[in-house]
Amino acid sequence: MPKHYDLIAIGAGSGGLSAAERAALYGKKAAVIEKARLGGTCVNVGCVPKKVMWSAAAISHALADARGYGFDVVVNDFDWTQLVESRDRFIQGINDWYTTYLADSNVDVIRGEARFVDAHTVEVNGEQYSADHIVVAPGGEPIVPPVPGAEHGITSDGFFALKEQPGRVAVVGGGYIGVEVAGLLRSLGSEVDLLVRSSGFLRGFDAVVREGLMEEMVNAGVNILSYTQVESMEKGEDGKLNVHCTGGHELTGFDALIWAVGRRPLTGTLNLEAAGIELEDGCIPTDEFQNTRVPGVYAVGDATGRAQLTPVAIAAARRLCDRLFGGQSERRLDYENIPSVVFSHPPIGTVGLTETEAREIHGEAVKIYQTRFTPMYHALTEHKTQTAMKLVCVGAQEKVVGCHMIGHGVDEMLQGFAVAIRMGATKKDFDDTVAIHPTSSEELVTMR
Ligand SMILES: Cc1cc2nc3c(=O)[nH]c(=O)nc-3n(C[C@H](O)[C@H](O)[C@H](O)COP(=O)(O)OP(=O)(O)OC[C@H]3O[C@@H](n4cnc5c(N)ncnc54)[C@H](O)[C@@H]3O)c2cc1C
Repeated sequence: MPKHYDLIAIGAGSGGLSAAERAALYGKKAAVIEKARLGGTCVNVGCVPKKVMWSAAAISHALADARGYGFDVVVNDFDWTQLVESRDRFIQGINDWYTTYLADSNVDVIRGEARFVDAHTVEVNGEQYSADHIVVAPGGEPIVPPVPGAEHGITSDGFFALKEQPGRVAVVGGGYIGVEVAGLLRSLGSEVDLLVRSSGFLRGFDAVVREGLMEEMVNAGVNILSYTQVESMEKGEDGKLNVHCTGGHELTGFDALIWAVGRRPLTGTLNLEAAGIELEDGCIPTDEFQNTRVPGVYAVGDATGRAQLTPVAIAAARRLCDRLFGGQSERRLDYENIPSVVFSHPPIGTVGLTETEAREIHGEAVKIYQTRFTPMYHALTEHKTQTAMKLVCVGAQEKVVGCHMIGHGVDEMLQGFAVAIRMGATKKDFDDTVAIHPTSSEELVTMR
């Protein structure tokens, strides 16, 4: 007889952990199955190590800026190895914390790879486990394109495993992971080529942040190669990587090449067919309540292909359990107006419709408010980065349907404005809010 649970979550990442925790909070018997490290992508090879590296890069900028404020700063060295070791200890601490926390929360942790036997039964290391509800949250994995020599490159996973700083790096891909990795490596002193297949990067983001970041990255010395796709690569006798690109373009002498060309759901070994689940575009299709087409089987997080962010996976999982066990029959995640930050240098914050999207939907009813300025932080610094902000408003009431910002501190500025936008705030509500002076965020409530 398989061991039976009220809920089993497959994957101890952001989504799976949240589902198991919330089920246990309702007094249900819950288990989470994990084949790798507790915490999933976010904790081990995503948000957490990325933010540590971003903070290190931000400190390097602050050290350079300090001179303008009278500090006689001499930076003798930057020790990548020490940074990486300290970061990994911090992450190990989170892994350990989860072990204790799950035990304290009465969530069983089953170590190994889960495989469906049928819609209510999974097998792990030859043992079977059954549940009334199975939440599939396997996350995703980075894509390595099928070009000759691609194996000489690394992905974001490999980037976080680098024990030494690469001197010269090619980052391939213009999504948020590509620009983040390129930006932080450049800030920490690497020479960086960023290869993108179209004219720019961050497709789907508002022009104000795309153009703003392009300017800042070029100023920071990132070599951005537009319309450039890798056709093949090889490792030379000197150990350096040489890259052959479309149009006969040759790039040579890299210490590392980082593929950041996208991610795909990690569903290959789940045997989803046994549960009766068919993938759509490689993702697990779900309805607005995270139901798959098979009763009792749900999916949350990156594998569903929607808004692939940690807080989204967490919120979807928690609400699912509120619905299943908390008597809240209509509880679900609203996927609109999800705020997000790109940890570039400077960072980007974005929520709601871009100007282009708003114009497609609302046409002439769209009104744009926009500003660009040098923040006061840079009053005395030699190097100055620009801040740009855009509010996308709609209709006679000028309801704010989008907010897009790039600049110093916008990563911490966005969350509160996202609340206001979600509540349906209008431009007048923004204007009626007294500004905080002197800050950059006051510009958002004083725009003309
Ligand atoms: C470089 C990078 C930076 C990122 N930065 C951010 C950020 O700043 N902010 C943000 O919000 N999001 C960020 N993300 C995205 C975020 O990490 C994901 O959206 C989030 O982790 C998704 O959670 P999940 O539960 O769907 O999957 P995951 O966190 O990936 O967890 C899935 C888990 O399932 C396990 N698993 C898979 N298949 C099986 C199986 N068959 N049996 C057992 N276990 C299995 C995996 O080992 C994994 O641990 C980043 C991602 C990357 C790659």
